[in-house]
Amino acid sequence: MAVLDAVAPQEATHLGVDLEHISKRFGDHTVLDDVSLHVDPGSVTAMIGPSGAGKSTFLRCINLLERPDSGIIRVDNHEIVTGRRIPARELTALRRTVGMVFQSFNLFPNMTVLRNVSFPQEKILGRSREEADARSLALLDRVGLKDKASSHPARCSGGQQQRIAIARALALSPSIMLFDEPTSALDPELGLEVLAVMRELAEEGMTMIVVTHEMSFARDVSDHLVVMADCHIIEQGDPHEIMTDPKEERTKRFLRAVL
Ligand code: ADP
Ligand code: MG
Repeated sequence: MAVLDAVAPQEATHLGVDLEHISKRFGDHTVLDDVSLHVDPGSVTAMIGPSGAGKSTFLRCINLLERPDSGIIRVDNHEIVTGRRIPARELTALRRTVGMVFQSFNLFPNMTVLRNVSFPQEKILGRSREEADARSLALLDRVGLKDKASSHPARCSGGQQQRIAIARALALSPSIMLFDEPTSALDPELGLEVLAVMRELAEEGMTMIVVTHEMSFARDVSDHLVVMADCHIIEQGDPHEIMTDPKEERTKRFLRAVL
């Protein structure tokens, strides 16, 4: 059963995103140096590369969890110029459009699973508790966790917690989903159940950008592969092509290490 079926009437359309000339420094340490990326609506972009390359920072810049020093974020017809004060209204609109799932789940430990999924809907979208809970239960059902609704996250496995985090993000009807190594903290078996949910989302046309070391996901699910190293995108294109015939020495080295 499709992940989004339960929520179709409220679903936003899936949008593309353009990042243009994004730069970011921490002090005098450059982390992103003029990085641009085009993402088609409904496409899956996998992002790979060595640790410290700037992948997480780049992902966080897309929804402005991290503020770029310069660059433009374009979603649909909407443009956010960074490097200046960003109006709260623009920030809120962007965060509603772009959902994010982290390596470490980031669930609220003191809330039940149901409240975890409902709370942001009430806070951010102003939904009533009844409305939010109904949507949460439908989404929990879709990720196979309806029976966990009244449990606390600590009683759930890592794979279950990550699926709850995905349901929580989907509950806000994002048009784009960002995943930062969503399975890295999980045993392979539990990672598979998370990847299955992500694969389903991709099949339903969600625009996704996924930082991952899961090369099989990158190869089988993504439409576009991006390789980051040393603050830059060093190579991008068709996933199969890059995996079988990488052009850059740095990409070759990285692929040798992970494949
Ligand atoms: P990746 O996700 O590819 O491993 P990151 O984006 O996490 O890379 O980090 C890129 C670089 O930026 C690293 O050198 C890291 O130490 C540095 N960095 C990340 N976040 C911060 C921060 N908040 N303050 C200072 N340095 C940071
Ligand atoms: Mg990272």
